[in-house]
Amino acid sequence: MGKSLPVINSQSILPPQTAFSSNVTQFDSVPTGSENPYDGRTVDDFKPYLVALNLTSRCNLKCDHCYLDATTKLGGGSDELTSQECYTLIDQIAVVNRGCLLVITGGEPLVRPDILDIARHAVKSGFMVVFGTNGMLIDDRMAKELVEIGVMGVGISIDSLDPEKHNVFRGLPKAWEGALAGIEACKRNGLQFQIHFSAQPMNYQELPEVIHWAHELGAKVLNVFFMVCTGRGEELSDITPTQYEEVLGHLVETQDKYSDMLIRSRCAPHFKRLAYEKDPNSPITKAQGYMGGGCLAGTNYARVTPNGDLTPCPYMPLSAGNIREKSFVDLWEKSDIFDSFRYPHLKGKCGDCEYSEICGGCRARPYVDHGDWLDEDEWCLYTPKGGEKVEVAFNVPEATSVVWDEASETRLNRIPYFLRAMVKKGVERQASERGLSVITTELMEELRKKRFGNETPVFKF
Ligand code: SF4
Ligand code: SF4
Repeated sequence: MGKSLPVINSQSILPPQTAFSSNVTQFDSVPTGSENPYDGRTVDDFKPYLVALNLTSRCNLKCDHCYLDATTKLGGGSDELTSQECYTLIDQIAVVNRGCLLVITGGEPLVRPDILDIARHAVKSGFMVVFGTNGMLIDDRMAKELVEIGVMGVGISIDSLDPEKHNVFRGLPKAWEGALAGIEACKRNGLQFQIHFSAQPMNYQELPEVIHWAHELGAKVLNVFFMVCTGRGEELSDITPTQYEEVLGHLVETQDKYSDMLIRSRCAPHFKRLAYEKDPNSPITKAQGYMGGGCLAGTNYARVTPNGDLTPCPYMPLSAGNIREKSFVDLWEKSDIFDSFRYPHLKGKCGDCEYSEICGGCRARPYVDHGDWLDEDEWCLYTPKGGEKVEVAFNVPEATSVVWDEASETRLNRIPYFLRAMVKKGVERQASERGLSVITTELMEELRKKRFGNETPVFKF
């Protein structure tokens, strides 16, 4: 695996007009911005569902795999967006899609002194807000405050069930104990939590135990991340493609056994191919993009770096521009880089693959490896067989005679974009099977409880 690249800002380092075509050879004839998309879609078809706000590079840990090359708590932060710049950014994201999920992360976001004010501003603006954190700074007071602000939940990273291994990897004694204490504080104060586990050579064989442990702990979601070796992580070795296949296969098999905990791979999109091979009609296969374990980079997902660069995803140091110079709206809607993800001309086996529509491979891996983000994903073992493209109709409404009453429709519309189509189909199917002609909030609540138990829903609606 090659070295990672520095964040490249095409708009600031390249001359106008000729810049992109002379320096980037990935795509032949990508239409410009929102005009003249050649497949009939427009910029309105690409809304951000998920924006990761890496608001600080400061951190209280020094993890081997950190893609931000996080410096110490004291050292970082000199060019970070100010509080006011963060508020402006959030207001600009709201112009494009107020319904998206904002993931506030870092570094360690809770190290940043104004982070709760920023979260408060985002929640008041109508966003769903979650934190990605190492959990060490979450005590009862912090958990309570996050709940009061309206933060929907936190994702806490655990790298091993062996505290020593976790602590060595995180670069700090007692990191494990701190993360666990954070989880317990969340539980005591009614703050939803997810477990984030990064599959690496040192820990991937622990996954079955980690899944069981996360379930026992009461996590509603277990996200298994597959690293892209960038930032400090560029010095690490990744698990091999064969090990990927093994882990992804295990995740697909295991989901059926844990109906009340969502188990998803992150950043290994061929998870979708394996899920389809197992069952073309499974919930994983039909779930859209991120919720189904696929990749939303640049199409429905973006990341803002601590100093304001907008990139297609956290592992991709390829900037469409800086929000200090252009508004998020302009960068999201008119970037050639983002268009290359929306109308991709994939190369190599990903271009030939019958699964390219539902998988498409990771774009960050070829990018950090050799600079060509549209090249094939070498971490996938599949050899395309030359068949028809596999398409999953997660966006195509099914014919139904069932209607939604006003209250249930309002509730449906409060569900995040990326879950809504899946929830709608599921509820309509249940109503049809029961011979009901009208969907009510009571039915929705009953189905939710059946799916997730009686506790607070993962998403408040
Ligand atoms: S490009 Fe790769 S690393 Fe980025 S979101 Fe997609 S799968 Fe994840
Ligand atoms: S070859 Fe590419 S598109 Fe096909 S399954 Fe593998 S990663 Fe996905």
